[in-house]
Amino acid sequence: MDFALNDVQQMMLDTARRVGSEFGLDYWRKLDAEKRFPAELWQAICDAGLCGVALPEEHGGSGLGMLEMALVIEALSESGGGSTLGQMFMCNPIFGGVSISKYGTEEQKRDWLPKLVSGEWGFCMALTEPDAGSNTLEMKTFASADGDGWRVNGQKIWITAVPESKKMLVVARTTKLEDAGGRTKGISLFMIDTDRAGLAHTPIDKLGTNTMSSSQVFFDNVRVEPNELIGTLDGGFRELLDVLNTERIVTTAGLVGAGRLAIRLGVDYANQRKVFGKVPVSSYQGVQFPLAQAHAEIECAALMNYRAASNFDNGLPFGSDANRAKLIAAQAAASATERSMQVMGGMGYSKEMHVERLWRDARLFRFAPVAEEMVLNYIAMHDLGMPRSY
Ligand SMILES: Cc1cc2nc3c(=O)[nH]c(=O)nc-3n(C[C@H](O)[C@H](O)[C@H](O)COP(=O)(O)OP(=O)(O)OC[C@H]3O[C@@H](n4cnc5c(N)ncnc54)[C@H](O)[C@@H]3O)c2cc1C
Repeated sequence: MDFALNDVQQMMLDTARRVGSEFGLDYWRKLDAEKRFPAELWQAICDAGLCGVALPEEHGGSGLGMLEMALVIEALSESGGGSTLGQMFMCNPIFGGVSISKYGTEEQKRDWLPKLVSGEWGFCMALTEPDAGSNTLEMKTFASADGDGWRVNGQKIWITAVPESKKMLVVARTTKLEDAGGRTKGISLFMIDTDRAGLAHTPIDKLGTNTMSSSQVFFDNVRVEPNELIGTLDGGFRELLDVLNTERIVTTAGLVGAGRLAIRLGVDYANQRKVFGKVPVSSYQGVQFPLAQAHAEIECAALMNYRAASNFDNGLPFGSDANRAKLIAAQAAASATERSMQVMGGMGYSKEMHVERLWRDARLFRFAPVAEEMVLNYIAMHDLGMPRSY
């Protein structure tokens, strides 16, 4: 077990810190107010080779791994973006990158990955449905055979970054649940253009993550070409798990950066704020302990996340670690941002201090991309051998 960063990892980290520092807290406050995707930052991330950090070299990536990607996201998030940084990586190198690089054909990899790595194309993923929710296997979106391709009908909800994306990874049933021979069978993955005829989307108004839009998506007889199937027809659910579990890793990395940033902002403020006598408010244990607790939890989540990432890179099981890390990171980041706001008193509520944005954004990740109750269900069943409770 070696916890030291190697030269390449250190270089990626330094690059991420440099890029992040060019787009600091004020940039993020402005974009949050404008509800605008950080297109300039994403382009700078791509130009610096950070989007493709874990993607194959022959398709424009750096050929490194999920561990390096986690380090990069932590640093970018900590520079000012906070947890939404994880979402930017989730959409592109995970929804687009993992699905295509692990399960795409040679042609799909050759034609699509370089555009993802360069930032020319954005990606999103449409899995969640209004009626199915966490019970994703109850999805109704159906792709029926249509000549050599398919026609998709159905509806998705809460899909991130649709207007900013060229391609959408659509998860759909291709065999009816009752005929599939198992709930996880009969599901397929397709990578389709977001501007395809019959695909419509409408924005959802929400509490935070304003720089990453959310949409309802409607499929009305949307044509899917044969070369848009990703992976195995009817066998897509197993392949999707690699996307969902690596999604946890980038989510955690974004939350670790957000937690560290919130704690730093809170500590800096508390160290200079004096209200009773000569000592700063940071001298009180009631102020120190919750931030110290959040710090301890954030660093534990980071370490668990590194193991998940490293095991993924080495082809080892990583789902349990990825889920545990995401559970603790989401709770710790929610707590870090909340306590940071608390130590600032009234100023924590102002836009000027930035922490209110970090608090709004971090709150999302206690129930998305997977709700903490579903992670606890997973741990109870897979790690502890308890019966399924639902
Ligand atoms: C801002 C945002 C962005 C998102 N981006 C995307 C995206 O890009 N693509 C995509 O496909 N989806 C996306 N999602 C959807 C997200 O993954 C879901 O919201 C999440 O999985 C929870 O599902 P749900 O909202 O339907 O909650 P529900 O499934 O309705 O759950 C409601 C509550 O009940 C609890 N619950 C449900 N079942 C159980 C059980 N068996 N045991 C204990 N508790 C249970 C849940 O934990 C939760 O607290 C996004 C959501 C949001 C809010």
